[in-house]
Amino acid sequence: MAQHVSEGRIREMIEAVAAFTATPGRGTTRLTYSAQHRAALDYLAGRMQEAGLSTRIDSVGNLVGRLEGADPSLAPVLVGSHIDSVPNGGAFDGPAGVVAAIETAFCMQQLGVTPRRPLEVIAMIEEEGGRFGGGLLGSRILTGQLGPEALAPMCDSEGVSLGEAMAGFGLALQEAGAAAIPEGGIHAFLELHIEQGPVLEQTGDAVGIVTSIVALSQLEVRITGAAGHAGTTPMAGRRDALVAAAGVIAELPGLCAAVDPRAVVTVGQIDVHPGGANVIPEAAIFSVDVRADRVGTVDEIKSALRTRLASLEAVGYAVGTEELLAVPETPMSEEIRGALIAAAEDCGFAWRPMPSGAGHDAMVLSKIAPVGLIFVPSRDGVSHTPEEWTDYDQLARGVEVVFRATRALTA
Ligand SMILES: [Zn+2]
Repeated sequence: MAQHVSEGRIREMIEAVAAFTATPGRGTTRLTYSAQHRAALDYLAGRMQEAGLSTRIDSVGNLVGRLEGADPSLAPVLVGSHIDSVPNGGAFDGPAGVVAAIETAFCMQQLGVTPRRPLEVIAMIEEEGGRFGGGLLGSRILTGQLGPEALAPMCDSEGVSLGEAMAGFGLALQEAGAAAIPEGGIHAFLELHIEQGPVLEQTGDAVGIVTSIVALSQLEVRITGAAGHAGTTPMAGRRDALVAAAGVIAELPGLCAAVDPRAVVTVGQIDVHPGGANVIPEAAIFSVDVRADRVGTVDEIKSALRTRLASLEAVGYAVGTEELLAVPETPMSEEIRGALIAAAEDCGFAWRPMPSGAGHDAMVLSKIAPVGLIFVPSRDGVSHTPEEWTDYDQLARGVEVVFRATRALTA
């Protein structure tokens, strides 16, 4: 098969964007509405224009490039990802998908293709939540889930409000709602992203074609026992909340595997009260993050956890759980998956169907349009560090699949 995409140009664009960092030599730090964000948008807008796209920046700072379709009245196919990074992150998380979209436009131009549907290429803001927290801000604004009222209270760690940061970027908070895409306003959304996990590297597949983004639940568990002096309270009869919590936490992986071996569970935070070295812990509060293919599986794991916690009540502890976040699985569009699979097969690339364990802009945009998500390998499965890496030939294979699928979807 003839490869249409240019590995050299892909590399050039990734390296150029990576250079717009607030922490040179210590990875990519490109926070939303920063000088580095501005420089990246200026650069990318130039590349989009070179690829034959007309460019605009929407009311919240998402950069959009458009290749007009033979029938301009049709809803466009939108392709892209986010341009912000976590602090001291890598060069690929986000930009890989933006560059894939721009390279797709370059290929259309080189082949002289005028698509029937318009093609739009997008570099979205604040997916990581690196500046204002929460994350997925650009896509949540595009889908109309966040307007000026919801955005106004948001502040960065220096106390700069989102509105002030927008004003510094030449944007007005009050206009934020104008960025929302109406229902039916896009025909499809396609995103390429690095896998951020080890599966493709281990299996040797060129690309992963995502079946669905996993269902997830984040719980806060509070176990309350009784405080006491570490020296004068005998071991017998203690109700040490941390010992009880440690027992539950240690059992979680087994409990999760018993429900579904592919499900994952993580305790990433724990607080102990009162927190003195010579005081028996009265309360232990910890997070539980559960993810699985289906919300039913997540529910089963949660109920197994609750049963285990209830056993503590029988021995004198008080137990409470609060669900802070619950998101059902997001299935990817059959039509777009079909286009991605056909493109990978045409290229002779090994591909595998796989779930996405992380949320992405595609998850949010699925509320207004059919979406597709394709993964390229991540070396050692790492991301959000300067060591994040995808070989350029691997990235080029993913971009080739995106180009071919986009060509089919816009035809
Ligand atoms: Zn990302």
